[in-house]
Amino acid sequence: MMRKVRFVDPGRLYQTIKDEIDQAYFDVMTQGDLIDRSQLRDFEKNLAAFVGTKYAIGLNSGYDALHMSLRAAGIGPGDEVIVPAHTFVATCSAVVNVGATPVLVDVADDFNIDITKVEPAITSRTRGIIPVHLSGWMADMQSVMEIANKHNLFVIEDACQSLGSSINGKRAGSWGLTGCWSFYPFKMLGGYGDGGAITTDDEEVANFARRMRYNGEDRDSGEYYGHGFTCLLDNLQAAFLDVKLRHLPSWIARRKAIADRYRQALSDIPDLVLPHYTKPGFDHVYQNYTLRAKQGTVFSEHMKAHGVEVLTQFRKPYYRHERLKLLAGYFPGTEAISREVCSLPMAVEINDDEIDYVIETTLKFFGR
Ligand SMILES: *Cc1c(COP(=O)(O)O)cnc(C)c1O
Repeated sequence: MMRKVRFVDPGRLYQTIKDEIDQAYFDVMTQGDLIDRSQLRDFEKNLAAFVGTKYAIGLNSGYDALHMSLRAAGIGPGDEVIVPAHTFVATCSAVVNVGATPVLVDVADDFNIDITKVEPAITSRTRGIIPVHLSGWMADMQSVMEIANKHNLFVIEDACQSLGSSINGKRAGSWGLTGCWSFYPFKMLGGYGDGGAITTDDEEVANFARRMRYNGEDRDSGEYYGHGFTCLLDNLQAAFLDVKLRHLPSWIARRKAIADRYRQALSDIPDLVLPHYTKPGFDHVYQNYTLRAKQGTVFSEHMKAHGVEVLTQFRKPYYRHERLKLLAGYFPGTEAISREVCSLPMAVEINDDEIDYVIETTLKFFGR
């Protein structure tokens, strides 16, 4: 019988931490702690400590984190913000939805913003850069910060895929004005529903986000500071996320072990480019194991046909979706990546036998 390897298996992961999750649920339910209670505060404190920032503010999603960060930076109509051409669409949509103009920049071979193309994209209207740390591997933040400081721009890190990643020990989400986080179920730290957060060292930004996520209200004084939103991280989700955050270091170690297994088995296939990069000081946490296969869709279809769930984000770059009405240019790096991307199963709940089956299925495609 053909084997099936799932891309992620949240039910199986739950079984491994069931006692702790059930206890968190029981506590929240019996105490009736539903909105903005100690579980949220505890999780925010622990998340900030993990990332290495003074503050973390729990929000409803990664999108809300980006949106709130842009508002905190005062970015709006007439402003331009630089975003990568290869990313999840939310990075760009947040810019559009505050009335600003996204300026797309191509990505390099590591799937992150091509630093050599950032400065040429800066105009007199540019106010910020949103580098994205894709798949667990950080953008070149030293260079991004240098360019931003030189041109007096805000940096908002889209760190939604890189919790725990770092450069020379300084973690993703602690470099820019804010780091934006998503706890969408399939992220490395995923809730049982939507969730997100901002991390920041800036007290004003922290206060702004805390008020605006709650209709603009300062919860101590009852004073409204502006027309806000409803995008608070759910207290029950915060309790679950706090449980999972305790496991994250060992989960990252497991991800690295899986990545290493793939590397050892697949690195001598000429038609594959594996996501192993050598940049001194950079630490990859493998949110995704996204390789490039010269055979593109033929390869990913082979994997699916043999029962291996793979992801091909994004075969069609977001700027080519006509209804988004983006005045895009041509981004050869992004276009090439889009044709070839294929993410193999990468999750802590996938066991070694399954990883070996993924490897076997890959090797079979190349006649090995
Ligand atoms: C997941 C993700 C987001 C959006 O997160 P949501 O919580 O789904 O809103 C934004 N950017 C990147 C790079 C992501 O991977």
